[in-house]
Amino acid sequence: MIIKSSLLKSIHLKPQYMHIAVDLDDSSLDTLTAVLLYYNQKHGTFLKRENFFVYRFNEVWGGTLQEAINEMGEFYLSEYFEKITPMPDSERTLRLLHEDGHKLSVVTGREPFLSEKTEKCIEKYFPGIFSGIYFANTYGLTGTKMKKSEICIKNGVDLIIDDDLMHISDCVDAQIPVLVYGNPWNEISPKGSLRLKHWNEVLEIIRILSSV
Ligand SMILES: [Mg+2]
Repeated sequence: MIIKSSLLKSIHLKPQYMHIAVDLDDSSLDTLTAVLLYYNQKHGTFLKRENFFVYRFNEVWGGTLQEAINEMGEFYLSEYFEKITPMPDSERTLRLLHEDGHKLSVVTGREPFLSEKTEKCIEKYFPGIFSGIYFANTYGLTGTKMKKSEICIKNGVDLIIDDDLMHISDCVDAQIPVLVYGNPWNEISPKGSLRLKHWNEVLEIIRILSSV
């Protein structure tokens, strides 16, 4: 497998055991499928993942960013939130990376008010895997917001896995190596990041990177 040399160069001097930051929504968890179950039922629409050419839901749904934030607020409180399941092979991959000796932390853009539900979900699907859970509060209307790059630097993260171009660019700009979890909205990912389509590829690449 060909690895972009820039990514390899940026990480090859890192320790064999890395601190890996893992995004939740639409990286390790298939959140959009549950959101669409909720949204299509409520609005009588037939939207699919493929329709999301950007990860700003209002640009697909129409309306303002604030309306999309409100819609997501309703989703979080609905029964559909409980329908979020892991992405294919994310459970297996993260367990194996943990067993390989890497330190794994969740770095999510979610708001802190979702901490209890989030921890419950992590305990259900990824028990004992993560050392820390950090909330960036990306779209929160109140409370402290942090860039994911700031969280990563503060906590000595060596590599982040994410799907959102805003966070990807932020981390690339901060010289943090990024593995992009492939979704329709990130087909063109920034230089300095490496886009992968499946969690099996994530496992393969990290095993290569940590053995050089
Ligand atoms: Mg995400």
